[in-house]
Amino acid sequence: MSEQLRFLVELQYLEDKKAAYSKSRQGAPQQLTTLDQEFSRFEGEVVLKKAELEHTQKIHRAVEQEIADLAAKLKRTRSRMSEIKNNREYQATLKEIEDRQKEISDREDHALELMETLESLNLEVKALDRDLTRRKAELARQKQQIEQDGGQVEARIAHLESLQQQVLKRLDPELHQRWQLILQRQGTTAVTAVEHGICRSCHLNLPPQKLIELQRDREIMFCPHCHRFIYWPDHEQYSMIRDDYENL
Ligand SMILES: [Zn+2]
Repeated sequence: MSEQLRFLVELQYLEDKKAAYSKSRQGAPQQLTTLDQEFSRFEGEVVLKKAELEHTQKIHRAVEQEIADLAAKLKRTRSRMSEIKNNREYQATLKEIEDRQKEISDREDHALELMETLESLNLEVKALDRDLTRRKAELARQKQQIEQDGGQVEARIAHLESLQQQVLKRLDPELHQRWQLILQRQGTTAVTAVEHGICRSCHLNLPPQKLIELQRDREIMFCPHCHRFIYWPDHEQYSMIRDDYENL
């Protein structure tokens, strides 16, 4: 086995772990935006409900005022009764009083309905306010959790990088350079396994002769198609790397 290849496989394993952690953080900004949007939407609902309450209160006050005005008019009409001289005027005034009373009664019915609406609106607004307070606290808690998770992920990535540095110290400088070059060109995978005669990264077949050489595991080899470092994963020393780093 090539010790240098083992180092490369280790580097790649650590690189894969780093990539997985980075990926787990990709959704965080979107997650924060969604949480904010959900909260704003609810806040909007509360504002609307409060506006409805205020509007109903205003109408209620206006109706109460109308009742008071009508009652004052009714009082004036009644006080005129004693001054009436003829029957026709008397009948007309009685009719006026009757109409006024009917108007007042209608307004009072309306006022009562409005009072009932106000009662339920008040209850709704109170419940929404409580919910808003609860949601606000929940939002803060979730945001803090996301930040905390982010901090943990960053710490893990930093740890993986320090492990990579230790491996790099032992890696041949030429291979190090090549490792970096492949990473620059090929993204996060520079070292790849060959399974069933196929390169796991580019999914192309290796010539049979190459496959035999690879299984012998004597020298550093590259995929003839994607030019990544290749290794035979069934060799125990490579599967052990996975076990060594499993809990990082
Ligand atoms: Zn390949």
